[in-house]
Amino acid sequence: MSKILIVEDEEAIAELEKDYLELSGFEVEIEKKGDMGLKHALEGDIDLLILDLMLPEVDGFEICRQIRDKKDIPVIMVSAKKDDIDKIRGLGLGADDYMTKPFSPSELVARVKAHLARYERLIHTNMRVNDIVEIRGIKIDKTARRVWINGEEKNFTTKEFDLLTFLAENPNRVFTKEELFREIWDMESIGDIATVTVHIKKIREKVEFDTAKPQYIETIWGVGYRFKV
Ligand code: CA
Repeated sequence: MSKILIVEDEEAIAELEKDYLELSGFEVEIEKKGDMGLKHALEGDIDLLILDLMLPEVDGFEICRQIRDKKDIPVIMVSAKKDDIDKIRGLGLGADDYMTKPFSPSELVARVKAHLARYERLIHTNMRVNDIVEIRGIKIDKTARRVWINGEEKNFTTKEFDLLTFLAENPNRVFTKEELFREIWDMESIGDIATVTVHIKKIREKVEFDTAKPQYIETIWGVGYRFKV
């Protein structure tokens, strides 16, 4: 029997989802707070996660990010706001599905079944689900270490790939050159933060339409760089 975890702070919604899923033969548990939900999802033996976006303590964005790093289970994100759904799609956090509340419980059950069946197939055919980061026109396949810009594959050196991936996975955050150097180049390596500038320039030449007006990696003068969503 597949086990499903619902992380949802609105009790009535969580209970309704639980009832329908149980009627369809699933085992269902509910967590109402984000921190408890994250812990349960990481440590528990669950087959699928239904994740509300706005939660007390730790929000759905952060939970999804952490689950994606550590577990290979389907994640269905739900939110009351259509705008939020569009935003999380844009962030490419890697949820498998998105639903806007209110939705019909039978629709939820249908999607749960479909995602479990898909993962089952992938496991049976012994294929791993590649870890993909997608933001607007950029698609990064972390498993295969390949990058496509508007559908066209581009070649990146190891460090360029690592730097682009790191920035894309932490969008809208400003990193100083020192922070990026520490993150991408190991502590032993000889080099200086000018290396970061050189690599950013090379990445921009591949990803930006106009390197004078970067659409992805912005320079924050006097501070560092930020991947814009
Ligand atoms: Ca909520």
